[in-house]
Amino acid sequence: MDENAAAESEDASSQKRSCRQDADDPHAPVEHCILMRCYQELNDFLPPEKRFQGFSCCFRGTPAVKDCIESAGIPHTEVDLILVDGKPVSFSRRLSGGERVAVYPVFESFDISGTSEVREKPLRRLSFVLDCHLGKLARLLRILGLDVHYERNFPDQRIAEISSRTGRIVLTRDVGLLKRSEVKRGYWLRSQDPYRQMEEVLRRFDLCKNLSPFTRCPHCNGILEPVAKEKVQERVKAGTLKSCERFFLCRDCGRIYWRGAHFSRLERVVRQARQVCDQQSGS
Ligand SMILES: [Zn+2]
Repeated sequence: MDENAAAESEDASSQKRSCRQDADDPHAPVEHCILMRCYQELNDFLPPEKRFQGFSCCFRGTPAVKDCIESAGIPHTEVDLILVDGKPVSFSRRLSGGERVAVYPVFESFDISGTSEVREKPLRRLSFVLDCHLGKLARLLRILGLDVHYERNFPDQRIAEISSRTGRIVLTRDVGLLKRSEVKRGYWLRSQDPYRQMEEVLRRFDLCKNLSPFTRCPHCNGILEPVAKEKVQERVKAGTLKSCERFFLCRDCGRIYWRGAHFSRLERVVRQARQVCDQQSGS
């Protein structure tokens, strides 16, 4: 990592010297610049000319490094490590101009505790709150047994509150939602396809050890419990009773589940998830 940071060949102080001062108003505050470089998938948020290379960010006053990063387009929830002139700093570190700022993405998959000043401990709580456009993804993740809070017509404010109060990780395609200060943990989904999104989440949060397929209700996120056949006989068709022995009841909404004709579709979802996990463990 230090090696990468050291690879910044451009001298930030020369950026500062080259900064434009306000030509029209001699009393205007002086504009300062820093040299920023973003690593790995953080480049997804940048325009092409700023990706995978240093670029200057200019400002007046002494803004927090978090504000500079977000003004470049990167939500703070995507950031886990910031180095200013090679040293780890917190989001609130003030900038005065001339610094070299290296910004690294959230390393959910490995332990960087002791290095990062941005977070006290690595992000390991594995529950999510999804924005209201992600109903299909919510269902897929619940099939895998993941704890997913989702409601249709959830306003952004409510999603941010839930994340702040419960520590749930926000999943969204809306960068603006991730820039809200209440949102401490979140991830911007790159794909628009629910199956690809599921793969992204599995990889990003290294969830393979946490999969427990068919233990949650895809409809409401409640826990499924085995239920005796006699207790459901009035609620399922005679043919189903004849062909199935095992039934499950959602503790929250009372829906009944069994391994019927639709089950092969659900198994395909789990197979796809396992493939992602196999690729990860093999890499
Ligand atoms: Zn349910």
